[in-house]
Amino acid sequence: MKCKDLLIKGKAKSVYTTDTKGKLIVEFRDDITAFDGGKKDVLKNKGCHNAGVSAFFFEYLEKNGVKTHFFTMLDPYHMVVRKLEMIPLEVIVRNIAAGSIVRNYPFREGTLLDPPLIVIDYKDDARHDPMLNDEIIIALKLVTPAELIKIKKVALDVNRLLSVLLAAEGITLVDFKIEFGRKGKTIYLGDEISMDSMRLWDKKTGESLDKDVYRFEKGDVMTIYNQVAQRITRSVKKQ
Ligand code: ADP
Repeated sequence: MKCKDLLIKGKAKSVYTTDTKGKLIVEFRDDITAFDGGKKDVLKNKGCHNAGVSAFFFEYLEKNGVKTHFFTMLDPYHMVVRKLEMIPLEVIVRNIAAGSIVRNYPFREGTLLDPPLIVIDYKDDARHDPMLNDEIIIALKLVTPAELIKIKKVALDVNRLLSVLLAAEGITLVDFKIEFGRKGKTIYLGDEISMDSMRLWDKKTGESLDKDVYRFEKGDVMTIYNQVAQRITRSVKKQ
């Protein structure tokens, strides 16, 4: 299978049409951005670490009953996926208070959120991805009430499955963001699950193992991404 036309060029990935109906190729580029694109860099090998981790997670989630867009990897940078009509929601699950929830609300960083918080933002860079509530989501007709229930259930299933897997490697899943899309009436998990879309802390040292290393210049991003990709994929292989 080969890339045909460029369908979407996002901040870190490019999506191509293919010669097979209903299938797309997602290229994980070496671009990294933060703060609404205000900070940008190109980091050699970053794309393949994120693609590798995403592919492992999608396979693991599929085995555990979560419907994802993942088919296969063509090479370390290119993933074959099901073409979805993406839903412009960023579904965030938070187990520990960190990041924007601490900046915008009176949570103290590091507070355990039990049960986990589900926060849903409107995916729109120009509007800085504003936080939604259920009423706004339904009023905007972004999803039906039944789809919203389904999306939240899948988000919590993904949280439970990934938390267990990462804990086995001594990593705390602090929070993560996922995106969903439709094919007909079926909702699939799309996009990526990687160090760019999760917040991960080392259980022993509390050290950041994710894009916060880049955002706040906490160390050498690629050394950390390389190490964490190896830890994660090793933990998946043990399952
Ligand atoms: P962004 O600039 O939105 O952060 P990315 O660089 O991550 O974007 O680009 C990926 C784009 O591809 C996003 O717009 C995402 O919604 C879209 N996408 C992800 N998975 C699929 C899919 N299975 N079908 C169609 N579009 C997808």
